[in-house]
Amino acid sequence: MKKPIVYIDMDGVLADFKSALTKISPELTDEFVGQHDNIPGIFSLMDPVPGAIEAVYALKDKYDLYILSSSPWENPTALGDKLAWVKKYFGGEGSDNVFFRKVIFSSAKNLSRGDILIDDRTANGAGEFSGRLIRFGSSEFPNWQSVLDELL
Ligand SMILES: [Mg+2]
Repeated sequence: MKKPIVYIDMDGVLADFKSALTKISPELTDEFVGQHDNIPGIFSLMDPVPGAIEAVYALKDKYDLYILSSSPWENPTALGDKLAWVKKYFGGEGSDNVFFRKVIFSSAKNLSRGDILIDDRTANGAGEFSGRLIRFGSSEFPNWQSVLDELL
């Protein structure tokens, strides 16, 4: 039996963007006001969203999991930092990582075919995803426990 395909967004779903801002100097935060996406190295500083790591391991046997994340155009280290983050928090050497070769960087998420997209926003094509959008952080799905309750 083929498992349903589930795409998971990074920022605001797996990775806590705001947690990185607390680790940045106020000067840098001010310099990049309105464009925190472009702070050098910011994507390496994020803590996992509470429950996110455990949720991935809880879902992986039932679903075919992929990361589907947009990456800022003007931050030259963002792509590498995001991939390093996945390696850091989902560990293992190579294919031991649950997302080994299953990380998709895309700003047109609607072009990825699958059953479910877990995303905190409708930007970058998420709102036009052809499957079901689980809007993380909404009143229906405020946290990972509520997502697990729905999907397991
Ligand atoms: Mg997001």
